[in-house]
Amino acid sequence: MAYNRRSFIKTTTIFTFGGLAVPQLTNAKMKGILPKQGLKLSFEPYNLQLKHVFTLANSSRTTTPVMLTKIEFDGFTGYGEASMPPYLGETQKTAAKFLSGLNLEQFTDPFRMDEILEYVDNKAPQNNAAKASVDIALHDLVGKIIGQPWYKIWGFSSENTPVTSFTIGIDSREVVIEKVKEAAEFKILKVKLGRENDKNMIEAIRSVSDVPLCVDVNQGWKDKNMALDMIFWLKEKGIEFVEQPMPKELTNEIAWLTENSPLPIIADEAIQRLPDVKKTIGIYSGINIKLMKCTGMREAHKMVNLAHANQMKVMIGCMTETSCAVSAAAQLSPMAEWADLDGNLLISNDPYSGIKIVNGKVTLNNNPGIGISIS
Ligand code: MG
Repeated sequence: MAYNRRSFIKTTTIFTFGGLAVPQLTNAKMKGILPKQGLKLSFEPYNLQLKHVFTLANSSRTTTPVMLTKIEFDGFTGYGEASMPPYLGETQKTAAKFLSGLNLEQFTDPFRMDEILEYVDNKAPQNNAAKASVDIALHDLVGKIIGQPWYKIWGFSSENTPVTSFTIGIDSREVVIEKVKEAAEFKILKVKLGRENDKNMIEAIRSVSDVPLCVDVNQGWKDKNMALDMIFWLKEKGIEFVEQPMPKELTNEIAWLTENSPLPIIADEAIQRLPDVKKTIGIYSGINIKLMKCTGMREAHKMVNLAHANQMKVMIGCMTETSCAVSAAAQLSPMAEWADLDGNLLISNDPYSGIKIVNGKVTLNNNPGIGISIS
């Protein structure tokens, strides 16, 4: 598939004066005629190169396919992204099919976000990452028109952002130790467990670091009694919480585990969209919200509120993504107890720059929209 990412991102109708984006005056506007233009959606596939082989309980990979999107309107351009790790079932092909079926030109007012995103959601079932790529681009566009980042539009305080975890994949003792040393800036590490070497992984990290840890089992433990024994052992090793310890279908076992566990149990694979929040109440202690699972920023914002209203804790997470989707998710992070926003740090070909991690903490900027610029 031949394509030129830089020309895709950079082809816009915006002039730049001294670093500030200024909308281009069209001929029609200069003549005082305001054409009733619609939103212009475009998209292009892109492959993320991972810095390290990424190993989870059931798979390994070195690349992640994504779809980069943009929505242009009145001289402004909003950027979005769909990240599609293979286990979620979407591909660049399914995303292209979904996106080419959309007609955003019919919408001439980008501020009607509810109406636009309802249309996108109702166009076809599933396709959650593809839907998120439209949602993120629309939020970026609207934020740029307003001239403010979304965390401010939502009324959040930037100093309330959490620290973010940095993910250590399943690997040999030597590689794990090397990765932990590289991650010295982070105040919490997320360790992938769920294979036979779980205790070795933790002990390897503890041989070089006493940083707080959380663990993500990715449904890897099959027996609740074994899982509870492991959780008590993990608590002694300074672990703060456990993500998706058992297969999501085993709700009774997970509810029992949560009731008896000395550590919070967080749902990830068990939760995708807003209606799923209700299903996790009484089963888990909290939820991991990811834009690619829940169709984007609009629904994620509702999920945070619903979870908190039910005394559930919230983690804002991500896939391996560029700074585009990570910065979009970070706009919500002042509301979250935990963040897992390291997806852009795991890749070597990020076309954007956006939010930064400073001393382990998610650090928002004042760029309008989702807070990114083209790097
Ligand atoms: Mg997870």
